Amino acid sequence: MEETHQTTCETGLMICGRTWDQFLIDVESFHGYPAPGVILGGFLVDLALEELNPSGLYDVIVETRNCLPDAVQLLTPCTFGNGWLKEFATGRFAITVYDPETLFGARAFVDLAKLATFPLLNDWFLKLKTKQEISSPDLLRTMKQAHRDILSYQRVVLLSAMPKIKSARLICRSCGESLPMHEALEVDSAPGQTPATGLCRVCAGESYYAVDE
Ligand SMILES: [Zn+2]
Repeated sequence: MEETHQTTCETGLMICGRTWDQFLIDVESFHGYPAPGVILGGFLVDLALEELNPSGLYDVIVETRNCLPDAVQLLTPCTFGNGWLKEFATGRFAITVYDPETLFGARAFVDLAKLATFPLLNDWFLKLKTKQEISSPDLLRTMKQAHRDILSYQRVVLLSAMPKIKSARLICRSCGESLPMHEALEVDSAPGQTPATGLCRVCAGESYYAVDE
């Protein structure tokens, strides 16, 4: 069935309403350089959106933080900041676009059986060759040529709504800053006290910084 969605015509290749050249420019300005991973991510976003064809609001789940969030945040209104982009970390290079009301969605992924027919892309994607061994222009040219021929999708229904986590806030008794209850490493037992107090991760000894005094 996928073949009916193909846009194989050289001049007709569009990614979320952008021509190939415009897509590359947009990726470069958003990501800093035309990263093949963001380009491939854009193909996934484009395919999943077309397959789901949402009439209203939709959410997106990425399965890895590598490159995919930038593709989603470039091409859709969904960002980590507004909560419409979520992560379910499997490490797989795949995204799911879904309707948050019905939970029906479309998941697009890189299909290794199809990828094998493009040895250059296969070597790059599976890291069988180093970046130095693969010519960037060749890689981009082959990606453009392959486009959806290396992808597959499946219709899915989410098992839960993955709601934004709403949690009461707590005050850290050491630093005095506030945080969601579920992020605290310790919650003091003081029944009925609001806001509750406890200990944040940094004050419990898991800091990522030292104060420069
Ligand atoms: Zn603290």
